[in-house]
Amino acid sequence: MLKEEFIKEAESKLMHTYNRFPMVLDHGEGMYLYETDGTKYLDFGSGIGVYALGYGNKEYNDALKKQIDKLLHTSNLFYNEPALAAAKCVCKATGMDRVFFTNSGAEAVEGAIKIARKYYYNKTGKTDSTIIAMDHSFHGRTLGAVSVTGKAAYREPFEPLIGGVKFAEFNDLASVEALFDDTTAAVIMETLQGEGGIFPAEPEFIKGVRKLCDEHDALLILDEIQCGMGRSGKMFTFENYGVMPDVVTLAKALGCGVPVGAFAARGRAAEALVPGDHGSTYGGNPFVCAAAAEVFAQFEKKNILAHVNEVAPYLWETLESIAADYSCVINHRGIGLMQGLQFDFAPGDIVKAALKRGLILIAAASNVIRFLPPLIVEEEQIDEMAKILRESISEVVAAKA
Ligand SMILES: *Cc1c(COP(=O)(O)O)cnc(C)c1O
Repeated sequence: MLKEEFIKEAESKLMHTYNRFPMVLDHGEGMYLYETDGTKYLDFGSGIGVYALGYGNKEYNDALKKQIDKLLHTSNLFYNEPALAAAKCVCKATGMDRVFFTNSGAEAVEGAIKIARKYYYNKTGKTDSTIIAMDHSFHGRTLGAVSVTGKAAYREPFEPLIGGVKFAEFNDLASVEALFDDTTAAVIMETLQGEGGIFPAEPEFIKGVRKLCDEHDALLILDEIQCGMGRSGKMFTFENYGVMPDVVTLAKALGCGVPVGAFAARGRAAEALVPGDHGSTYGGNPFVCAAAAEVFAQFEKKNILAHVNEVAPYLWETLESIAADYSCVINHRGIGLMQGLQFDFAPGDIVKAALKRGLILIAAASNVIRFLPPLIVEEEQIDEMAKILRESISEVVAAKA
C-alpha cells in the first residue's frame, strides 16, 4: 500500500486524538529509526523518553523473548518471579519500601492519589482531603491524573473532575504555603517538568515543599515518569536535590518500550493501601516485569548513569552554542539528557524542517523543543543533531524574514 493510502486509512480507523507526523515507523537500530520505505531518522525523542536503552538492545530483546515462551500473564491472584525481581530493583533504586506495578504513567499517578487520600482517611477518618498540584504540570490523561494536571485546556472539557485539587505556581514556595491547611493530604509535582516546557525544580523550592509536607504530615508525591530512570544522570532526579519523596511515580523508561508503570511508597504511605483498596488485572504481569528487571540489569551492565554524566555536558555545551548563535532561542534549561530550548515563537516548523532532514525532535509547551535522546547517545550523534538543528532553525528564520 502506498504511504499516502496507508495514512488515509489509519486516519479513518484510529480515533483522531493526535495530529501525527506523516511517517510510518517500522524498525530501529541503536539511535536510529527507519520508516517502512527505509527512510532513516536520528532519534532525539526516544518515543517520548521511553526507549532509554536505544533500539535493538539484544540482551533486553532476548530477555523478553525468553519470558514470552514461559508465561505472559498470571493475574495478581498469584505470585510470579519477575514481579518480585522488578519490585526489588524499584525499591532499591528509589529508596521506597513497596511498589505497585501499573500499565501506564497515568495509572501510576492514580495510585499515588489513592495513597494520599487513604493516608489522610486513616489519619483523620474524614473524606475532605485536598491535594496541591502545580501549574504547567503534566500527570497523564485519565480522570484523576488530568485533575492534577496544570493545563486548563486538558481539564475543562472533562469536568467535573475529582475534587479537592488546588494549583500552586511551580518554583514559588509562597504559593504552595498559601494553599496548605488541615485538609492537605499531599503535594504532587514533577521533579523536572517535562510536557510543561522543561522546568527543573529549584533546590530551595523542592526542599521547602518537603519541609511544609513534614510540618503538616502531608505526603510529597514526586512524578518521575519522564525525568526518572537515569535521564538526569542520577537514577532519579530527586537524588540531585537530596530530597526524598513519600511516593514516587514511574513509567516511560521503566519498561523501555513495554507498557509498565509503577507507584512506590515508603513508611506509613507504603502501608496505606490494603487488600480491597486497589488492583489491576494486567498490572505487574511477568512479561512487563521481566522487561523492567532487564532494564535495571542493562543500566548496570552498560554503565548507563556514568555514560549520561559523560555525554550530558556535551549536549549542554552544544545547545548553549546554538542558543548563543540564534536570537530566536531565548532560553536553555534542563538536567542531564533532558534539556529544552525555548524559542520566541512556536517551533513547530523547526521540528518539521528537522524531520525532513532525518532528525526526530519533540516539542513541549507552546514554545520549547525538548531533547530526550536514548541514554546511549554519543557525542558524534549530538554533533549530527546539532548540524541538522542549525540548518532547520536557519531555514525557518529565513522563511519568516
Ligand atoms: C508521560 C507522563 C505521564 C503519563 O504517562 P502515560 O504513560 O502517558 O499515562 C505522567 N507524568 C509525566 C511527568 C509524564 O511525562
